Amino acid sequence: MSDTAIVWFRRDLRTHDNEALLAAAAADRMLPVYCVDPREYGTQRYGGPESFRYERLGPERARFRRESLEALRERLREAGSDLLVRRGRPEAVLPELATAVDADVVTFHDLPGPEERAVRAAVTAALRERGVAPRRFWGRTLHHIDDLPTPYTAISDTFTKFRKSIEADPVVRETYPRPSMPPLPGEDDPGVDPDAVSPGAIPEFDVAAAPDVSGETAAGGEPVDFHGGEDAALDRIESYVWAGDHLREYRETRNGLLGADYSSKFSPWLNEGCLSPRRVSEEIDRYERERVSNESTYWLRFELRWRDFFQFQLAKHGAQFFAPGGLRRRDDVSWQWDDRTFERWRTGTTGVPFVDASMRELNATGYLSNRGRQNAASFLVNDLKIDWRRGAAYFETRLLDYDPGSNYGNWAYIAGVGNDSRQRAFDVLSQAHEYDPDAEYVRRWLPELDGLGPRAAHEPWTLSESEQARYGVELGIDYPRPVIDPATSGDDPV
Ligand SMILES: Cc1cc2nc3c(=O)[nH]c(=O)nc-3n(C[C@H](O)[C@H](O)[C@H](O)COP(=O)(O)OP(=O)(O)OC[C@H]3O[C@@H](n4cnc5c(N)ncnc54)[C@H](O)[C@@H]3O)c2cc1C
Repeated sequence: MSDTAIVWFRRDLRTHDNEALLAAAAADRMLPVYCVDPREYGTQRYGGPESFRYERLGPERARFRRESLEALRERLREAGSDLLVRRGRPEAVLPELATAVDADVVTFHDLPGPEERAVRAAVTAALRERGVAPRRFWGRTLHHIDDLPTPYTAISDTFTKFRKSIEADPVVRETYPRPSMPPLPGEDDPGVDPDAVSPGAIPEFDVAAAPDVSGETAAGGEPVDFHGGEDAALDRIESYVWAGDHLREYRETRNGLLGADYSSKFSPWLNEGCLSPRRVSEEIDRYERERVSNESTYWLRFELRWRDFFQFQLAKHGAQFFAPGGLRRRDDVSWQWDDRTFERWRTGTTGVPFVDASMRELNATGYLSNRGRQNAASFLVNDLKIDWRRGAAYFETRLLDYDPGSNYGNWAYIAGVGNDSRQRAFDVLSQAHEYDPDAEYVRRWLPELDGLGPRAAHEPWTLSESEQARYGVELGIDYPRPVIDPATSGDDPV
């Protein structure tokens, strides 16, 4: 029997290792669709009585997503298919298209967040009403949700226990091959309005219209080339793992702050779905066979398991993941909502160079090292005592690699309301000296401190007035006085 499938792309903008695409491609005709859901864009009110508005998608991620969609469409076109991009709610768009092309089935990947699951439920119900079969798959993680040692609802809330349970018998499924693409449902199909199905340019998805909340950014940058799409993702594997041979020393370099290659920088592609974590795992396997198997190769998988952990935690805990008291339902912390202090943190003008450099890098590039994220986040929640969700929401706007599980999960963890009962306050000053001993990083992002030696660049408030005059850094004029006494910054965890 001749049949028609729609494949609904979500955060799986790739043709490699894409089970939903593979399943749809078994049909005689296939229509690939992406919905620009207005709920994912624009501003959103956040918080309780003292709520604030924030942008869900900043300019960097909007650009990256558009590039990813263009790249996917290009790939599909090369294979004789195309990508229809529609603005609208998927639960309205997909049933309408399914009727227009007389589709039998709509295939798609599931996602762990409560909003995404609600959309999936609405789509599923609307399709069933029209007699169209929804078929959902899981492709977000290294370890398939059905291969965990326990159901995801029963996984441990402590990472180490989760990891050890996985490592006892790790199952990573093989990647799925790229399918050959069946033709689009054509105009010659009875009852099909050609305009409704002709895949056009990505409409109305205008990056220029994306909100820019950056305000103050550092001059220039040393950008990693984060270009959206699976080809760029696979190129990054090639340059980082193979040509650059950086994987062999990943464990030693991963806490770096400057440059393109201290860590893999896979995260934006993983989170938009341009890159499958199982594909990364297969590259690590091959690297271990052909080059070296060491602590570094182990550690990249270890980090991918952190990512898995937060995906499954989000699926397990749903909306509680975003609650002020977090998973631990803490009600003994009273968070501050001081707007002026938050502004200083957001714009990289706290007067604490290590924090300011991190925020300026984030604002300028949409990327920040893990070490920078940890310290900037800890400073906001543990030193300034500002509501962790406000910082997380700001990261959501700015980060190229924003992912609800990884972002809110890491923030909650650092704020002490997440998955680990240990206090996660960072001593920002000691971290600065340890990880940026020559102050190269802070001087890179804070050119006003360029003339200072390493200690003074990290602690400009220690300069006497005559030293300030000598180095041309007048506190309160050229660079701010610290917003709090930096010596009180939290105890360093391990
Ligand atoms: C406050 C805070 C917010 C964060 N928000 C995000 C986010 O929105 N999206 C995101 O992908 N990561 C987030 N991270 C985790 C981590 O900082 C980034 O994944 C990492 O810096 C990305 O760079 P990379 O790809 O070079 O990482 P690598 O060091 O090369 O790691 C390889 C991959 O492992 C995963 N990974 C590594 N560390 C973590 C971690 N702690 N948690 C979850 N996954 C991890 C990522 O997918 C990463 O691409 C956050 C961390 C903190 C402290």
